[in-house]
This record gives sequence, structure tokens and C-alpha cells, in this order.
Amino acid sequence: MKAIILLGAPGAGKGTIAEGIKSATDYIHVSTGDMLRAAVKAGRPVGLEAKSFMEKGELVPDNVIMKIVTERLEEGKADARYMFDGFPRTTEQALMLDEVLDGHGGRVEHVFLLDVPRDVLVDRLSGRRVCKSCGAVYHIRNIPSKVAGVCDLCKGPLYQRSDDTEETVLNRLEVFKKQTQSLIDYYEKKNVLVRVDGSKKKEDTHAEIVSVLRTAFCSS
Ligand code: AMP
Repeated sequence: MKAIILLGAPGAGKGTIAEGIKSATDYIHVSTGDMLRAAVKAGRPVGLEAKSFMEKGELVPDNVIMKIVTERLEEGKADARYMFDGFPRTTEQALMLDEVLDGHGGRVEHVFLLDVPRDVLVDRLSGRRVCKSCGAVYHIRNIPSKVAGVCDLCKGPLYQRSDDTEETVLNRLEVFKKQTQSLIDYYEKKNVLVRVDGSKKKEDTHAEIVSVLRTAFCSS
């Protein structure tokens, strides 16, 4: 079991990049944010535990996160490759992930840190709109839908995530800044951190990451 991690502030483009990598490789995409939103929507107990933290832009407790991640990994085959997006968010989660992977004879191969300036992040998040039916992501100025408020793909209604409002966005960025430096240090020491410029066009960021993955694959 091998893993790569997409690390970056909310709005850094982890989800978009993950979609591209998923279609170009055999990595299984695991987004803890998506899993939590699905659990909240379905009224599952983990969703109820997570909801109030998510609404404030705070981190959900590590035990809740590890429960959903471990369950997800147990569903997969022993030789699966995972791409984590939005996880780990703390050094404690990183340590627990290493332990779980180790138990399956696996490890974290690369951690891609998507670097994006703060003003770009705030703009991306507060202008983001998501389709309620199919989950497609738009931006009111950068990637507008053809008809305002309606998804181009499935005609579903677009909405603003409750944690994408400006006040919550600022808190999420603050939480990210506080939690992430130690995580960066942790992966830097393990020699698996790859810094990527996430403010470029998504095709360029994608190409940079895929090239690292292909080089690693060819030399393994
Ligand atoms: P995201 O979609 O990754 O921006 O996550 C949305 C929200 O879900 C975050 O603001 C947190 O409240 C929660 N969340 C997602 N992943 C994690 C994680 N690994 N650790 C703690 N909280 C998380």
C-alpha cells in the first residue's frame, strides 16, 4: 500500500489537481473533506461529530478523522495506491497514517505542497460555487457556469459551501497556517516533500506532479 499526499491551504487546488491525477494514473483519491461532507449529508454518527467543527472552519478531532480514513483503507487491496487530499492536517494524523501504512507494508512516497499566495486563496474560496447534484466546481469569475447558478454538466443548482463564506475562509486559512508548518517539517525531514507552485495554470501544476510520479515509477 503506497500513498501520496496533496498538501495545501484550502483553495490551493488540491481537489482539482486530484481529479486530474486520478484520471491520468491508478491512484485512489481519498478526500477527508468530501468524506465528512457525505457523512454529514447522510446523517451518519461521524458526520454529526464533525459538523460543528466544519461549520466554524476548525479541524475535526483526530480520532474521528482516523476512523474514516482507516475504514476507507481497509476497503482497498493490499497493493493499492492512495492519493490523500486534505489529510493529514496535523503531525499527529501524519504519525497515525505512517503507522497504518506500515501495518500494510506501505509508506508515503511523495508529499506535494501546493504553494499559493493568500490573496489568491481568499479569492478562489469566496468565489467558489459547487453543484449540489454532481459536485462540479465553478468560480463566479474565473470558471463561471454558462447560466448563473446552474451547473453546465447536469443542470443542478450551484451553491456556496457554508465554510466558503469570507469569515470562515479567513479562519480556515489561519488554522492551516498554525497546523501546517510542523507537518511540512515532518515530511521535509523524511525527504518526501516536493514544493509545487499552485498559482500557475492547473495544467502546468498537474504536469509538474505527474512528471515527478512518472520519474519515481520508472526508477522503482
Ligand atoms: P476540505 O474540504 O479539505 O477543505 O475540508 C473541509 C473541512 O473538513 C475542514 O475545514 C475541516 O473542518 C474538516 N476536515 C477535512 N479534513 C480534515 C482533516 N484531515 N483533519 C481535520 N479536519 C478535517
